[in-house]
Amino acid sequence: MENIIYLDNAATTRISPAVREVMEPYLDGFYGNASSLYSLGRESAKALHKARADIAEALNCDPREIYFTSGGSESNNWAVKGAAALMKNMKTQGKNHIISSQFEHHAVLHVLLALEKFGYEVTYLPVYEDGVVRVEDLQSAIRPDTGLCTIMQVNNEIGTIQPVAEIGALCRERGILFHSDAVQALGNIPLDLSALNADLVSLSGHKIHAPKGVGALYINKKIRLAPFIEGGAQESGKRAGTENVAGIVGFAKAVQEAVSGAEAKRAALLPLCEKLYKEIMKIERVHLNGDMEQRAINNLNFSFEGIEGESLLLMLDMAGICCSSGSACTSGSLDPSHVLLALGLPHEIAHGSLRISMSKYTTEAEVDKLLEALPGIVNKLRQMSPLWERITKG
Ligand SMILES: *Cc1c(COP(=O)(O)O)cnc(C)c1O
Repeated sequence: MENIIYLDNAATTRISPAVREVMEPYLDGFYGNASSLYSLGRESAKALHKARADIAEALNCDPREIYFTSGGSESNNWAVKGAAALMKNMKTQGKNHIISSQFEHHAVLHVLLALEKFGYEVTYLPVYEDGVVRVEDLQSAIRPDTGLCTIMQVNNEIGTIQPVAEIGALCRERGILFHSDAVQALGNIPLDLSALNADLVSLSGHKIHAPKGVGALYINKKIRLAPFIEGGAQESGKRAGTENVAGIVGFAKAVQEAVSGAEAKRAALLPLCEKLYKEIMKIERVHLNGDMEQRAINNLNFSFEGIEGESLLLMLDMAGICCSSGSACTSGSLDPSHVLLALGLPHEIAHGSLRISMSKYTTEAEVDKLLEALPGIVNKLRQMSPLWERITKG
């Protein structure tokens, strides 16, 4: 699959050579269980200890605040369910109201829907046409019984950046727990866990060139979250199960690379982002989804009038180009993306969307190949589209 042009890095990424290299010994010789007392097990325990310390150093927090999980979805589930349980008891007793946004990842939104069935009340803040939550809206949504706010840092479908540090500061001032899904922020925009004013932050490995199935939840040391998986004493007794040592070692390397390489990545991708924008906007009746300025520049999402996103993806695939119509979790269903609907796009335009997401491995030649193929494909699909005929004939 070497000649594939991969522009779907918000869905997942390839493993970096350095990540693979540090994992290798733990897939092979050092297979001991980290809870065992003999030296083979102690090697694994040492590796876990170092991985936690390395991540804490790269993201500016205490190693005791990093809990390894199976990825972003688990971290989001643990954070939101755990915080919802916490706000019912302790100091915050009796609090029943949660604030979130309309375009969170499904691993947050579906948990909130389940909590609503249990009697919690949830306010979903609007994100407007630019795809950005307003702090003033949060301020007016806060009630005396608000116990939790969960807002993502960078949206995975359209790449817009949310004012999370301000949101966190406001929540802290009002005694509200604050969780942020930072899966798409890591490696794309600066991430400093101590400056974020957050109690809980979700991270995932496979979006930053580590393997799938590993991630972390940052839990501020002032917060006492209940265990998510009961069983053994792993992860300070809060997340039982024999640790994915190789995956965690790879994840730590990927976090270090993401942080140290963030500036170089930005410098390399900025001209590619600008080129994509400039060239694609030349196509007739195309819209950029989300604000161009408040954006993680690895991610651009466009809507083409008169086109089905699925057909567009299939034609691009035939040209050897991998893109997405939005969230991997939504494809396979015919419902338009909840993110694009939250921006206020009509259904028929939300259907014709294309997400282009780059990584540090993306080259200008790859971007050029997409730009060569795209206008012809759009044109061909429009020629076959009764919807397009209706649009152009007014
Ligand atoms: C991918 C993603 C997740 C889910 O992470 P997994 O590790 O795949 O479970 C959660 N939130 C955002 C914003 C994502 O992009």
